[in-house]
Amino acid sequence: MLEMKTNCEKCDCGLSKEGEASICSFECTFCVPYSEAMQRVCPNCAGELVRRPPRTL
Ligand SMILES: [Zn+2]
Ligand SMILES: [Zn+2]
Repeated sequence: MLEMKTNCEKCDCGLSKEGEASICSFECTFCVPYSEAMQRVCPNCAGELVRRPPRTL
């Protein structure tokens, strides 16, 4: 079951289900500006951060 995290793990800013976010292979979740600042590399596990598509429904 994929859990939708709703807060950036770095700066704890809110991430809406409809808005953009970035997740790594191990489901660390960050806001897009932070992932861009990290060159899309997860600071926790060095996984690649990819855009989480907005949830449809
Ligand atoms: Zn990670
Ligand atoms: Zn953030």
